[in-house]
Amino acid sequence: MKRIVLLGPPGAGKGTQAVRIAEKYEILHISTGDIFRANVKEGTPLGKKAKEYMDKGLLVPDELVCDLVEDRVSKDDCKNGYLLDGFPRTVFQASHFDEYLKKNGIALDSVVDIEVDEDILLPRMIGRRVCRNCGKPYHVTTMPPKQEGVCDVCGGEVYQRADDCEETVKNRFKVYQDQTSPLIEYYKESGLLAPIDGSKPMDEVFGNICALLGE
Ligand code: AMP
Repeated sequence: MKRIVLLGPPGAGKGTQAVRIAEKYEILHISTGDIFRANVKEGTPLGKKAKEYMDKGLLVPDELVCDLVEDRVSKDDCKNGYLLDGFPRTVFQASHFDEYLKKNGIALDSVVDIEVDEDILLPRMIGRRVCRNCGKPYHVTTMPPKQEGVCDVCGGEVYQRADDCEETVKNRFKVYQDQTSPLIEYYKESGLLAPIDGSKPMDEVFGNICALLGE
């Protein structure tokens, strides 16, 4: 049983590591970004509200996030533990969630903070492309499709997601600096913070996280 929070700047590889951690420890991977994207796709009222913020690289307001996550982690499939990827994003969300945990007599086990410099992340993210049809990821310099704009696998259109364009990415970093990075201090004070060097190769980062979390 583990309850883990994964922190880190945009593009640090949280999503990739989260999938592997959840699989290894047999806990549920909860990504608030994925939940919002699914709602946007389905055109739900929550999705319609969230999209306005997401497309600009801004955070969805706290009041739309806290109850959503607290309801989700109360479900049966979270009994074995969970990994929160992309939540909390503000000190308000973190302290609201702490209240929820306290009320239920439970606690987090660890807050893994994947650290990578913005200078490395910015070009990585701005160069990101994805197939509109099958979702295969590309990168303009490190992994371009054979023919510009065309997916190698399915022939679909390779495009840049609205939240990966330069202006939005810069906004997301600013939002991270201003609103999310104070969480590092917040969790340091509670003794839960486990910093990890995220500039290393993916497998090494994963190995270091597992060493930290234990068996
Ligand atoms: P992500 O995939 O985690 O980068 O999330 C994509 C977008 O969803 C973010 O840029 C925010 O607009 C929104 N989002 C995801 N998680 C949260 C959260 N905990 N609080 C506020 N907004 C969030």
